[in-house]
Amino acid sequence: MNNYGTPPRIFVKGRGAELWDNEGRRHLDFLCGLAVTSLGHAHPAVTAAIAAQAATLTHTSNLFANEHQAPVAELISELIDSGPGQVLFQNSGAEANEAAIKLARKYQGRGRHVVVSALRSFHGRTLATLAATGQPEKHEPFQPLPEGFRHVVFDEVAELERALGPEVGAVMLEAVQGEGGVNPANDAYLQAVRTICEERQILLIMDEIQTGFGRTGAWFGYQHSGIAPDIVTLAKAIANGFPVGAVWARDDVAACFGPGDHGSTFAGQALALAAARATINSYIQMDAPAVVRNREAALRARLADVAGVDHVRGRGLLLAIELSDGCRGQRTGAEIARACLDQGLILNAVTPTALRIAPPYTVTDAQIDEAVSIVERVLEAR
Ligand SMILES: *Cc1c(COP(=O)(O)O)cnc(C)c1O
Repeated sequence: MNNYGTPPRIFVKGRGAELWDNEGRRHLDFLCGLAVTSLGHAHPAVTAAIAAQAATLTHTSNLFANEHQAPVAELISELIDSGPGQVLFQNSGAEANEAAIKLARKYQGRGRHVVVSALRSFHGRTLATLAATGQPEKHEPFQPLPEGFRHVVFDEVAELERALGPEVGAVMLEAVQGEGGVNPANDAYLQAVRTICEERQILLIMDEIQTGFGRTGAWFGYQHSGIAPDIVTLAKAIANGFPVGAVWARDDVAACFGPGDHGSTFAGQALALAAARATINSYIQMDAPAVVRNREAALRARLADVAGVDHVRGRGLLLAIELSDGCRGQRTGAEIARACLDQGLILNAVTPTALRIAPPYTVTDAQIDEAVSIVERVLEAR
């Protein structure tokens, strides 16, 4: 179906930050499959884990456990560092958020089922996660959506407070809005939200699907503000490209899911979790947050010289460059991203005037220089 439009390339091979298409053309991947392949393509440890597990045992269903589930859940709980909690595995980000919404509803009970999220947020494409996504133009063709969702302006405490009636059971936020334009929340905002939710016994769900596993220079985006969420949702980079999602919830919240409340045929299977285990262990071994902060500094330093960049926003290796009007000429962000692709650089237009850059954590100084030189060339050729 045509829900993505016509794809501009067919890729056949990847290594680190590089991708080759079916005509042998080399590209620099500064998008990472949308903040997914954070260790780079064909990472040796992840490749070996997938190959070994595929040759051993792939799937047994959730009627049984496998040897990776408990260790991966423990790794996630340690990194989340938000007190004792439990993990539920899923297959994608939308499923993780869907499960988090169900968990919040079960915990809070009927009548306290409303989830408040932010305008310009992105939480997924299933009906409930689309309803949580604060982009009304995406809702229109699919009305009526499930009820019980409300949106407020992002990063404004008073706006949020006004929306919190007794029917509200959860607030769902991204620490940096990824799809909505790479908009970081202020630390003071997240701290205030945490306090308000605490006072009113509202669950705070942090959607860390795009920001998790070091991407922003902390293990999870909320950690910059020092808060402890009640529920955290994960996917994207969790297994470096193997489809895995997860929900972490603090113990007493997690405890309200009993047998039969939720399920998935594939979720948590041995092959997926072997990939997640190798990926997360690799992030820990490399100290991903420190590596990301170092690479962020290199990338920002190189971008500072570029004519036509109005400002750079974001955190860690989840950045957007806002293009000044003069440098864009009559071109849209999408056209500029397309011109970069034709020069061998992959990034995307996250708004009509901004490009998102999210390279792998392993990106080198030489690759940064090459990528930014391409952006410079494209901006000059207006
Ligand atoms: C990508 C994304 C999702 C949806 O994840 P899928 O795996 O595409 O379902 C949800 N929330 C955020 C913040 C995301 O970036």
